[in-house]
Amino acid sequence: MTNPQDHLLDWLRDAHAMEQQAITMLSALARRIENYPELRAKIEDHLAETKRQASQIESCIERLGGNTSVIKDLAATFIAMGQGLSGLFVEDEIIKGTMASYTFEHMEIAAYRVLIAAADAVGDLETSTVCARILAEEEAMAGWLAENIPVVTAKYLSREATGGVEAKR
Ligand code: MG
Ligand code: FE
Repeated sequence: MTNPQDHLLDWLRDAHAMEQQAITMLSALARRIENYPELRAKIEDHLAETKRQASQIESCIERLGGNTSVIKDLAATFIAMGQGLSGLFVEDEIIKGTMASYTFEHMEIAAYRVLIAAADAVGDLETSTVCARILAEEEAMAGWLAENIPVVTAKYLSREATGGVEAKR
């Protein structure tokens, strides 16, 4: 049997590992994108946001008395998600990278919804508030991507068809 407080702490550690993975993934994406400046700028903004999220989650873990030294070992949990990035080196890598980002944001949204419910269940108002703020950022990023997937796709297709500006990234 594990008490709710311990589950909350575990899930915060998972969220921290997830944000570390997001930092790796967003950095790689931002570095590779050349011909889609709006997308690159948005990813760079969200990368900065993601670094703040990781340190906010770390503060929650420490406040609950958790040991942050084991955080690194848990990063492996989310490595599978980062493998969506193996699409980076294919011909349509801008499309695969955008899809991987959109998918990742939704995994984050799910994780923060669980965390908010768990924090509320144990009466941890501070963690609930932090996670609600982060959730809003993930939803904003997911919403931006939803709106811009058609834009990026149309641009990719027309560039591919005309052979002008490099389409793949
Ligand atoms: Mg995040
Ligand atoms: Fe995110």
